[in-house]
Amino acid sequence: MEADVLPERVRTVQTVTGATGNLSIDLGAIRRNYAKLRKLAAPARTAAVVKADAYGLGDRAVSAALYDEGCRHFFVAQFVEAQRLRPHLGRDAQVFVLNGLQPGNERACAAAGIIPVANSIEQLAAWNETGETLDRVLPVVLQFDTGMSRLGIAPQDRADVLELIRQRGHVEVLFIMSHLASADDPDSEQNEDQLDEMRAIAGEFTGFDICFANSGGIFLGEDFHGVLARPGIALYGGAPNSDRPNPMDPVVSLDVAVVQTRTVSAGAKVGYSGAHVTSAPRRLATIAAGYADGLPRSLSDRGAVYYGATRLPIVGRVSMDSITVDITALPEGTLQLGSLVEILGPHQTLEDIARDAGTIAYEILTSLGSRYHRQYL
Ligand SMILES: *Cc1c(COP(=O)(O)O)cnc(C)c1O
Repeated sequence: MEADVLPERVRTVQTVTGATGNLSIDLGAIRRNYAKLRKLAAPARTAAVVKADAYGLGDRAVSAALYDEGCRHFFVAQFVEAQRLRPHLGRDAQVFVLNGLQPGNERACAAAGIIPVANSIEQLAAWNETGETLDRVLPVVLQFDTGMSRLGIAPQDRADVLELIRQRGHVEVLFIMSHLASADDPDSEQNEDQLDEMRAIAGEFTGFDICFANSGGIFLGEDFHGVLARPGIALYGGAPNSDRPNPMDPVVSLDVAVVQTRTVSAGAKVGYSGAHVTSAPRRLATIAAGYADGLPRSLSDRGAVYYGATRLPIVGRVSMDSITVDITALPEGTLQLGSLVEILGPHQTLEDIARDAGTIAYEILTSLGSRYHRQYL
């Protein structure tokens, strides 16, 4: 029992950096997750979605690890991300910009060897024009809207797009793609609706390869795989399906330091606005991470951190730089200034904390702050 109360792994914070906690990112687990997804999607190839700094985990480190694992297709959302990442990847890797280009970025994109996704006839025409000016045939991906109404060529523009790629001759379409809106829910009818629409598009754009599945889509079966799968969250240990056991290896663990402990009597107000009032004498610890470090304010008086297997509930409001937790369940003196408690790890998954915060694992990951010591395993 004693060993469980005082786990070795959470004893020290990396103090040389002045950090408030240890964020560890297991690149080996990311590689294993990639290998697992690739096997599921085969014979389709598997890309990696590394947008938003690889979901907050560091796009360079993550992409380098995945490149070593054999990944050669990398998707980011914005051109600025592609510009930063492109020089760090091998020349045989391709970097795609999901949101496509803002007007005026075409020349820089072509010069950097980055491949835009055209989401509209305007984006495609501007790219073709750039090819004409440079006297080159520029690679492009076409994204179609199959029912999400977010990004992609609208049904009524398909004929014009087909005409443009046939007539103007300065773009080469590498593949066509669309994005699933409900792939995390295998029972959603929207999956089949979008698949039907994708098949209709493939009937119009004959001979083009298809890229369709995100993480959840890979688990929907081979109808959704096309020739290239595009997982993000599952690489990073997030659950591809919202209501099934998570088959992916955990990637992130986060331990944060105690700043102060105290004993309060019944009726003590805790945190901003005195929103929490103790109903009995309590021992409390203040922990060095708040909403500026990616703990959503919606965790106020909800959710918990862990010390070993002991659950320590969050009490009162989440502050910018700290949370307060109830440590009465631990023997007195267990936690002191500098002790570490678990926010993500063996006792609390990304999905657990996301559920308590009323959000999704994606938002927890991409919000992880910069005040932790980051360690790549
Ligand atoms: C973010 C994104 C993905 C990856 O989705 P996950 O659910 O994280 O696997 C794939 N395709 C597009 C277009 C995206 O925006």
